[in-house]
Amino acid sequence: MPPNYVLEFDLDSIPIPAGRLTLHLFYKSAKPMTIIRQEDVIQSVADALQYISYFHPLDFIQALHRAYEREESKAAKDAMAQILINSRMCAEGKRPICQDTGIVNVFVTVGMQVQWQGSLSLEDMINEGVRRAYSNPDNILRASILSDPAGARKNTKDNTPAVIHTRLVLGDKVEITVAAKGGGSENKAKLVMLNPSDNITDWILKTIPTMGAGWCPPGMLGIGIGGTAEKAVLMAKESLMDPIDIDELRKRGPQNRIEELRLELMDKVNALGIGAQGLGGLTTVLDVKIKDYPTHAVSLPVAMIPNCAASRHAHFVLDGSGPAEQHPPKVEDYPKISWDVGPAARRVNLDTVTRADIATWKPGETLLLSGKMLTGRDAAHKRIIDLFNKGEGLPVGVDLRNKFIYYVGPVEPVRDEVVGPAGPTTATRMDKFTDDLLEKTGLLGMIGKAERGPTGISAIKKHKAVYLMAVGGAAYLISKAIRKTRVVAFADLGMEAIREFEVEDMPVSVAVDVNGISVHNTGPAQWKQHIEEHGLKVK
Ligand code: SF4
Repeated sequence: MPPNYVLEFDLDSIPIPAGRLTLHLFYKSAKPMTIIRQEDVIQSVADALQYISYFHPLDFIQALHRAYEREESKAAKDAMAQILINSRMCAEGKRPICQDTGIVNVFVTVGMQVQWQGSLSLEDMINEGVRRAYSNPDNILRASILSDPAGARKNTKDNTPAVIHTRLVLGDKVEITVAAKGGGSENKAKLVMLNPSDNITDWILKTIPTMGAGWCPPGMLGIGIGGTAEKAVLMAKESLMDPIDIDELRKRGPQNRIEELRLELMDKVNALGIGAQGLGGLTTVLDVKIKDYPTHAVSLPVAMIPNCAASRHAHFVLDGSGPAEQHPPKVEDYPKISWDVGPAARRVNLDTVTRADIATWKPGETLLLSGKMLTGRDAAHKRIIDLFNKGEGLPVGVDLRNKFIYYVGPVEPVRDEVVGPAGPTTATRMDKFTDDLLEKTGLLGMIGKAERGPTGISAIKKHKAVYLMAVGGAAYLISKAIRKTRVVAFADLGMEAIREFEVEDMPVSVAVDVNGISVHNTGPAQWKQHIEEHGLKVK
């Protein structure tokens, strides 16, 4: 008998004579078992994570390109151009699409007829794959995972552990989907326990504007309906692993209530006018995915999780024949897009810019920044404010007078890079520090991603400062504008250390001017009205 076979016995036919404990085994049938080797799991997970760090799924590229072609808002179109150009550059350079290389989510279905060869648990195999991918010296990925989340928040250094969901199913294969979910979009996840008589669409349309643009639209909405609270959230996440197919659905027509709801939500969400990066425009979502499950008679759980411009997931099957291969998009699959900021862009010398200069900048205006800026995000801000609270000043080497601070946590460089992908992080997280920082340092302004909240805007207006935005999801493109970098303080914070960047022609736009006018408030409002008045097709 070959060693990889399972024996099945018909127990009813086994006679047990009185007084003796002799077991006669009657062989009934033999089915081949699939042997899954530990190393195949580890290598396949590592390869898939490397792959998705620099290749967008093809369906995402195509859907974003279609949205780019029909976009009428210049600001939104420019943002999409940067995301598409960045995507192509990352595929060519094999470097991450975004500086946030994500928290790893894994969905595994294990056929009940597989046998494992190795000494690690399945979770340990997957985490070893994560470790291997994130520390690959050819393409180091940013380690963003912190242990002890409610306490010390200590970086695990290798981006483990992944969040793993496993199901046992019939069959003789192991299917794995890996995703690298950006923190900015994960932070916007929502769960509600509606009354059965409540309207799901109403809740979604009311909730989306409250999410701002920190989830880097355009992307996808994953929605889970039914089950229990945790089941709804899990379905919402899992639905984001499916390919974008809303255009095909629209063409063939909906065949059930869930498909009708997908189309209804797609149109109504886009009609909100939020647009790419929240700048106002025709496309906020490229698809709406829904999964549902039976629920209790008194319940209607609904979960919603957005996926961002750095939509990253890959699927593979292990059948015992070795590690899985990924099949990258071809160069010709990427649209040829050029983005020229044009002569209208204002060139700014960061080494000489004054408060009088920034007072002339208009909301929505494109700037090309050259010169020196400092970086700092959550942990650095907290430490600075703690120093102020203790009556101390800024750390040695940090002078923010007449300077700009860039909210960024870059990827480590490889080969001859000055810095790895270095896109902006969500600015609202810094809102609570902004008044103090502007008051006590003489800072002129900040650069980040998406909108500022009311606290941030009122601080900006009070101190006659400005907030500039760069495009979230265009991190590799942005990193090419950074010519020099050095750590100036808080080196122990790793990617959150304060650095000095010397940039040349770094493209940003004025998102909040000195009077507190925010393009993230004016843009979506204008485009919502525009869509209502002109009945534009937002499909
Ligand atoms: S595209 Fe935006 S939300 Fe997505 S990982 Fe990058 S910064 Fe985070």
